[in-house]
Amino acid sequence: MACLPTAAMQAVSVQLSWTHQFQFAGYYVALARGYYREEGFDVELRPGGHGAAAPVDAVTLGRSEFGVGNAGLAVRRMKGADVVALAAVLQETPLVWIAARPPTDERAGAPALTHERLAELARARVMWRGKVDDQVELALPLAAAGIDLARVPQAMPPDPIEQFEAGEIELMSGYRSTEVQELRRRGVPHALIELDRRLPGFYSEILFTSGALAAQDPQRVERFRRATLKGWRAAFDDIEGTARLIHRLHAPHLGVEQLMAEGRELESLSHRDDIELGHMSQLHWRRVADEQVRLGLASEADLARLDGLLWRVDREPVALMPDPMRVALTGVVAALWLTVWGLWRIAARSRAEADQLKAAQQQQGDDDLRFQFLMDVAPFPVLMFGIRDGHVAYANERAIGALGLAGDSAELRIHDSLPSLRPGGELMQRLQSSRILRDVELERPGVGAEAAHWSLLTMRAVEYEGKPCAFAAAVDITLRKRAEIELSLLSAQRGRIIEEVEQLQAKLRDASVRDPLTGLFNRRYLDATLRRELHRSQRESRPLALMVVDADHFKRINDHYGHAGGDEVLRQIARVLQDRHRSEDVVCRYGGEEFVVVLPGSDLGFAAERAEQLRQLIAALEIPTDGGFAHITVSIGVAATLPGDDADRLFKRADAAVYQAKHEGRNRVVLASVATGPSLPAQVTLPGEPDRPAPAEADPS
Ligand code: GH3
Ligand code: MG
Ligand code: MG
Repeated sequence: MACLPTAAMQAVSVQLSWTHQFQFAGYYVALARGYYREEGFDVELRPGGHGAAAPVDAVTLGRSEFGVGNAGLAVRRMKGADVVALAAVLQETPLVWIAARPPTDERAGAPALTHERLAELARARVMWRGKVDDQVELALPLAAAGIDLARVPQAMPPDPIEQFEAGEIELMSGYRSTEVQELRRRGVPHALIELDRRLPGFYSEILFTSGALAAQDPQRVERFRRATLKGWRAAFDDIEGTARLIHRLHAPHLGVEQLMAEGRELESLSHRDDIELGHMSQLHWRRVADEQVRLGLASEADLARLDGLLWRVDREPVALMPDPMRVALTGVVAALWLTVWGLWRIAARSRAEADQLKAAQQQQGDDDLRFQFLMDVAPFPVLMFGIRDGHVAYANERAIGALGLAGDSAELRIHDSLPSLRPGGELMQRLQSSRILRDVELERPGVGAEAAHWSLLTMRAVEYEGKPCAFAAAVDITLRKRAEIELSLLSAQRGRIIEEVEQLQAKLRDASVRDPLTGLFNRRYLDATLRRELHRSQRESRPLALMVVDADHFKRINDHYGHAGGDEVLRQIARVLQDRHRSEDVVCRYGGEEFVVVLPGSDLGFAAERAEQLRQLIAALEIPTDGGFAHITVSIGVAATLPGDDADRLFKRADAAVYQAKHEGRNRVVLASVATGPSLPAQVTLPGEPDRPAPAEADPS
C-alpha cells in the first residue's frame, strides 16, 4: 500500500460532532498510524461545534462521506434522513445530567435529587447543550419527572462549568468524559442522575455514512469502517500515548492528564472487554427507537423506516472474499473431502453388513482398500486421531511430513505436534459438541532451529472402532502465515516511524508559536488568533474581551534580583495566567514583561472580574530567587469588542487602559470605556492595594 501512487488514494472527510478531543481518538490514531492510508484513504477530519455543519446534514448533503453521530440517528432515519450506522464505539451513552448536590446531603453516593426536585430545577436553573432529538437519553429522565420538555430552557453560557461552580446553574447536561471529569478535577461537588436501568444503554460515538454511499460502494465503506475501528482499538490500548498525540496534533489547549481521564472514561463506556468494539444490534436500535417514539419524536408508522439503519457486515463483499489462495485451497480440500467422506460412509456401512452377508465380505475388503488408497495418495494431509487420548490411528504420507508425525505409530499423539488439539482442550470440546469444525488455523511450534508451521484444518467427529475420533484434512498455510507476520511487523515499524516524524513536525510547529521562556503562545500566534476569534465572535454575535497585563516597575526587579530572578518572575506571572484561563481563552506573552489574554465569549464585566482575580493572585505571589523572595504587581487594561471593531482598535483600547492604570499608581485594573475612543479609557477603575513599592526599597523616588 505504501507504494500506491497518490492518485489511487480516495479523499474522504469525516464530520465530527464536536471540537477535537479524546471523543474522536480512534480517527486521530487511524490517521497518525497510517491505517487509513493502508486502506487507500486520504482522510480529512472536520471538527464540529459552533458554526460547523451538523454531522447528519453534512453526510446526507454529500459534503462529508462519513460522520460521527449518536442515538439520534434513529430519529433522523425515521424522519427520512438516509443514514446508515456502521459502528458504535460506545455501547453506553456518555451524556448525563449533572446536578449540584444539595449542601445538606452529606451521605456519600446518596441520590441527590428526587424527581420533584428535578422538576423544580428543570424549570429554572438548567443548562442543556443540545437538542431533544439528538439526546433522548437526557430527555427521558425529565419526561419521567413529568416535565414538559418544550418548556426546558436550552441556553448555552460560555462557561457552564464556571457558572455551575458558582451555583448559578443547578442542573447541567454534560459528557461523562468531559464536564464530569472537569468537575472532579476542580473538586466541585455534584451528583449524576443515572439512567433508569431498564432503558437501553444508548449507543454513542457512532460512525455513520449515507445510504447512497453504502449501496454504491460497500467495499469502500467497509474499508473505512475497518480502519476506524482499528484506530479505536489502538487508541484504547494506549490511552496515554493517544492523549499525547491529541494534545500535540489536535488540541494543544487540553492537558494530557485531562485527555487521559477522558480516554479512560470513554473506554469504560465502550465495554470493549465484553463486546466487540463497534458492535450494534438491530434489537438495541429498535429499543432506542421505541423510546424516541414514546417521547413523541417520531410516530409508530415511522418505525418502518428504521430498517436499513444498521449496516450489515455479512452483506459486505470484502468479508465474503477472503484471500484467493485460501479460497482455492479450501475448495480443493472440500471437493476431495466429499469424495473421501462418501467412500468412508460406504465402507462403514459395508462393514456392518459384512457380518450377515458373506458375499459382501469381498466387497468390504475392496472398499477398505480403495478407501485406504485414496487417503494414502491424497495430495494433502489426512489423518485420524482419538478425541479422548490424541492417539493417531491413521496419517497419510502428507500428514506425516507436514505435521511431523514420524516415529512409532503406537506412541504418536496429535497434541505433541499440534498442542491446541490437546484432549479435553477447547477445540476438542467444540468438535464434540458441534461434530464438525471448519478452517481452524493451527500452529505447530518450531523445534530447535526449525521455524513454526501452520495448517488449516477441517475436522469431523466420527466413531471408529468404538472410539470417538476426529477425522481431519489439512492444508499447509505456513508460507502465507509467515508473509502475514512479516507484513504486520513491517507495518508496525512503519507506523512507528510515521508517528516519530509527526511528533517532530508537531514540535516544530509548536516551537514557532510558543515563547520559550514561559511556554505561553507568542505574539505571532496572538496576531493570527485575535483576528480569527474576533471574526468568529462577530459571526456568532458573541462578545469578546481582551486583557493587556503589564508588570509594574519590572526594571527594578531586574536591577534587584538580576536577570535570572526577573526571568523567574515572568515565568510565575505566566503560570498564574495559564492556570486560571478557561479552555477557550488564549494566553500569550506579548513581549518583554507584557502579556495578553483573549477571552472569547466574555463581556467587559466578566473580563474585569477575571482581571481583578488575576491581579490579586499575582500580587500575592512569593517568588523565590537567588536574592530572596521577590514580589510583583501588575497593571491590567481590559477592553471588550464594540460593533464594527477590528483587532487593532480593540488592542489599542486595552493598551490605553494599561497606560492609565500606570498613571493612576499601578497595581490595578482599568476598563476601557465602551463609549470612548481608542485613546481615552473610561474613568472606571478597579483599584488594587496602593502601589506596592515591592522590591524597590532601593528606589530613589
Ligand atoms: P512600568 O511599571 O512602567 O511598566 O515599568 P517597567 O519597568 O516594568 O517598564 P519598562 O517597559 O520600562 O521596562 C521593562 C523591562 O523589562 C525592561 C527589560 O529589561 C525587562 N525585560 C524585558 N524582557 C525581559 C526578559 O525576558 N527577562 C528579564 N529578566 N527582563 C526583561
Ligand atoms: Mg512594565
Ligand atoms: Mg511594558
